[in-house]
Amino acid sequence: MSHQLATNLARVEKLIKKAAHDTRPPTLVAVSKMQSVDTIKAAYDAGVRVFGENRVQEAAEKFTDFKNEYSDLTLHLIGPLQTNKAKAAVAIFDVIETLDRVEIIDAVAAEMKKQNKNPTCFLQVNTGDESQKAGCSIADMGALLAHARAIGVTITGLMCIPPLRDPPALHFALLKKLGRQYGLENLSMGMSGDFERAIKLGATHIRLGTIIFGVRSKP
Ligand SMILES: *Cc1c(COP(=O)(O)O)cnc(C)c1O
Repeated sequence: MSHQLATNLARVEKLIKKAAHDTRPPTLVAVSKMQSVDTIKAAYDAGVRVFGENRVQEAAEKFTDFKNEYSDLTLHLIGPLQTNKAKAAVAIFDVIETLDRVEIIDAVAAEMKKQNKNPTCFLQVNTGDESQKAGCSIADMGALLAHARAIGVTITGLMCIPPLRDPPALHFALLKKLGRQYGLENLSMGMSGDFERAIKLGATHIRLGTIIFGVRSKP
């Protein structure tokens, strides 16, 4: 397992370097959802320092002790956040990529003050305007960014998950344009199937699960 993991990682790192040959290499966020703590530790031993989880509860269970033990580890929330999980999310995550509405920005802001913590925050944008998908609409971005700023939440980037129906490059290019328009430097875009395109289109963070850990089995 850990041998396979190291092999996968080495291969991915080579592909990232190649795709980023004329840009700054992005941060690799290793998406460890549904992976065991043992697998996560193997990834750490292979050099991974940045992990992504999409569920607050699962992340707290797997990472609370691990993070206390290894202080050089960074954890990203990449899944939708509910207000009743804001407290736990602020406690465990260093980067929250999925702010997308006023209520959740308010809940996170309140917890940041209470816990005296300052996670890095991104706005998730529903670039494909899909009704079932999290993320704010493009039309709401300006108001949400202004609201966040007004209550002391600094948003430094954008995140998107392209719809399956479209070529992902369309959405990566759009997210980059929006980042430029709003003066946000971080762009979280690109997964196992499309990260090279995302890098070429300016991703600063790529979120890779399957290509590192293999196909996720259901719990
Ligand atoms: C699971 C997940 C990923 C990783 O997907 P892979 O195709 O396994 O690389 C990336 N981003 C989000 C938001 C996810 O939920």
